[in-house]
Amino acid sequence: MTGNNILVINGGSSSLKFALINDQEANPRISGLAERLGSVEAGLSWKDSQGKHSKAISKASHQQALAELLPLVQNAAPEGLQGVGHRVVHGGEAFTGSCLIDNSVIDAIRATIPLAPLHNPANLMGIEAALAVFPDLPQVAVFDTAFHQSLPDYAYRYAIPTSLYEQHGVRRYGFHGTSHRYVSAEAARLMNADYQQSSWLTAHLGNGCSTCAIVNGQSRDTSMGLTPLEGVVMGTRSGDVDPNLHSHLANVMGWTLAEVTRVLNNESGLKGLSGLSNDMRTLEEAASEGHAGAQLAMEVFCYRLAKSLASMACALPQLDGLIFTGGIGENSPLIRSKTVAHLRLLGLQLDDAANLRCIRGVAGEIQASGSPRVLVVPTNEELQIALDTLNLIQPHGAAHA
Ligand code: ADP
Repeated sequence: MTGNNILVINGGSSSLKFALINDQEANPRISGLAERLGSVEAGLSWKDSQGKHSKAISKASHQQALAELLPLVQNAAPEGLQGVGHRVVHGGEAFTGSCLIDNSVIDAIRATIPLAPLHNPANLMGIEAALAVFPDLPQVAVFDTAFHQSLPDYAYRYAIPTSLYEQHGVRRYGFHGTSHRYVSAEAARLMNADYQQSSWLTAHLGNGCSTCAIVNGQSRDTSMGLTPLEGVVMGTRSGDVDPNLHSHLANVMGWTLAEVTRVLNNESGLKGLSGLSNDMRTLEEAASEGHAGAQLAMEVFCYRLAKSLASMACALPQLDGLIFTGGIGENSPLIRSKTVAHLRLLGLQLDDAANLRCIRGVAGEIQASGSPRVLVVPTNEELQIALDTLNLIQPHGAAHA
């Protein structure tokens, strides 16, 4: 049995991440990144069974990068490819799930550009490049927002004039849906629980961070909103701030809207608080050596995260488990323990030894006896995109080893 091969593509404005997934194998056959596309420094780097490789592809476009990739993919998948799955950041209200790409889907993704002016055009570049290089393969779009389309209106509406929602789509959409969906389903599988009869809190903690409440396989609330800036503290993003901050900074600093937006997205979060780095590993090291900024950044990160999780609990009928995932969630026993320490009212408590064991891809339960379940579940968005793609190409055909 050779399984099915799916090429997963995540297009950025000047980059293209890719992974070749076989649904019967634990690891991608090949994965990598084409970056600085369009510039003389454009390069392709990838990892396969032989190790790591790189190649200069000066001035290559997205399509030329994919053409460079084609022989590598063909070599890694001599049986052929069954389809291509694309990550698309924003599906607006048009997409409640993943779907096969046709012209009307491309038009709908384009129509959503005002809600994701940086991401959707980049994702479209990846889709258009793949349609040109793989014209005969079915292609599927998997949206970060789609999983959260099941939020009730009282969770997704902002308390602002209704016309702003009705005429301009101003509402909470949520992101990281592919990850929240994957880890909650995986947690149910690991616990032998029925996913359709279960309730979870998830904390996806990477460079971007968000929380989610999932009931019976559906997202019921999530911390990100109209854009991925809302919610918890992130690597360089502030998360929630006073909505009057823009006008305050404009008044006292003379900053433009663009400058405030740049500072909140790129200079804030862990980086802004610590004055040192957006990278949690660096902060943990500096904090252990007494760096006050790093210590404060970690404290704010964990307290705000716990507050967000406690508020997400409002959406649950019961708690079957709190799940940590993403680079920080999967690898930092310290952040997990500091966060859970703020959640005593939910009865949560960790087992220190189990907490320390779950790092570098090790999944497992880390709660102390008597506490509701706390789990570490490594996310795998590429695999979820590949499985969605297979399900749409050959209904009821997708299986994972
Ligand atoms: P992205 O959102 O870009 O996919 P990741 O999920 O890879 O990001 O998460 C990156 C974050 O995970 C960084 O802040 C990094 O420092 C953190 N991280 C990775 N390994 C560790 C570790 N061992 N301890 C603490 N933080 C870690």
